[in-house]
Amino acid sequence: MEKKTYNLFEAAQKQFDHAAELLELDGATRDFLRMPMREYHFTIPLHMDDGKVKIFRGFRVQHNDARGPAKGGIRFHPLETIDTVRALAMWMTWKTSVANIPLGGAKGGVICDPHHLSLGEQERLCRGWIRQVIKNVGPYSDVPAPDVMTNAQHMLWMLDEYEVITGERHPGFITGKPVGMGGSLGRREATGYGVIITVREALREMGIPPEDTTASVQGFGNVAKYAIELYQKMEGKVVCVSSWDENDQCSYSFQKKEGIDLNELSSISDSFGGIDKEKAADLGYAVLPGEAWLEQEVDILIPAALEDQITCENVDKISKRVKIIAEGANGPTTPEADEALNQKELFVIPDFLANAGGVVCSYFEQVQSNMNYFWEKDEVLGKLDAKMTSAYVAVSDFAKAHKLTMREAAYVISVNRVAQACRDRGWV
Ligand code: NAD
Repeated sequence: MEKKTYNLFEAAQKQFDHAAELLELDGATRDFLRMPMREYHFTIPLHMDDGKVKIFRGFRVQHNDARGPAKGGIRFHPLETIDTVRALAMWMTWKTSVANIPLGGAKGGVICDPHHLSLGEQERLCRGWIRQVIKNVGPYSDVPAPDVMTNAQHMLWMLDEYEVITGERHPGFITGKPVGMGGSLGRREATGYGVIITVREALREMGIPPEDTTASVQGFGNVAKYAIELYQKMEGKVVCVSSWDENDQCSYSFQKKEGIDLNELSSISDSFGGIDKEKAADLGYAVLPGEAWLEQEVDILIPAALEDQITCENVDKISKRVKIIAEGANGPTTPEADEALNQKELFVIPDFLANAGGVVCSYFEQVQSNMNYFWEKDEVLGKLDAKMTSAYVAVSDFAKAHKLTMREAAYVISVNRVAQACRDRGWV
């Protein structure tokens, strides 16, 4: 939003190269895993409400499907680029692998700003996206899901288009659907809750009771809100959140030292997770510059907005009190800033581990949809907790045993599994 010169795919490749070095991967496997296996670029003609036709650009990138059907969200964003989609697709491969679920990695997107599209236009855009890639996606090859600025309704329109074209019912084609229309209970909460399950485990290892901690969160969308909900259930105190202001085209932080009220802030935010700054001020929140969330005197920082947020320019503003950074967003920390965090010996729970709860629950949704048999919410959340906890413990144990950072350990475990699957299939 504010700046976009940073190339996310180069950052993802740099992280992968480091993991490949640690694993001493052979040249062919490195070359194979550094790039997506397949990518589709297309145009989507959209009949606008005013009678004109506008052309939008769409993408689907399948990074790797050696361990199972490709899986990954679809983002609607005005600054979407193919390199962003490539990076996110690659991270999906590592995410499904570190969570040890039988899926690969993919990502999709459309360069558009849904703030400026009517619901009818959004529906036609979703249907247009499916029409352009229907030959290349499907319940047993590539299963999409929501991501930034897409939601359950978008997924249902996409599913409907897929089913209208195929003439069959395929609820397992897409995840993140509305509950009652093939969606899973608990999917809405899953990513944010998953982030906090990893925080809970980290605090347990550090011997710190959650109720003695405070946190600051960047973003107030799907991931951020449910992370806050579970953290508050554990009696942690959130003192600051931030969000994007569409009118001012910048972000603001909202601080309340005695702890933010989730319901109150939700009631004054729009469907894109933007908080109304005038109403927040009336409710007693200090409205601060966008980056203030990062400068808070807290124990835990949770970036849960977008990529490229913790950078060389601001990493030194992080308070010495911060003990844990749990990356709810994908790619919030640049590789250079990550170096600086390592030097400060800050404990970072890396994105593709911390935010894996979404895809874990998407996997549960896919299983339920394909069986046409749906589980109770407690069962879904219980299974989510078990998967997230075991993924966290495996990474943490590996990091300690091999004196690696959590990011390095997560990479070594996940890249190794994918490389092995590629070798087992005889691909490399
Ligand atoms: P969302 O669209 O629901 O919310 C995004 C939030 O970030 C909004 O509150 C928006 O106002 C805020 N924001 C945007 N730019 C900002 C900025 N510069 N400063 C402060 N706030 C800003 O998106 P989401 O689904 O919550 O996803 C957030 C991140 O988590 C993304 O990186 C996404 O890829 C990642 N993620 C999402 C899921 C999921 O299940 N939704 C799963 C895994 C990872």
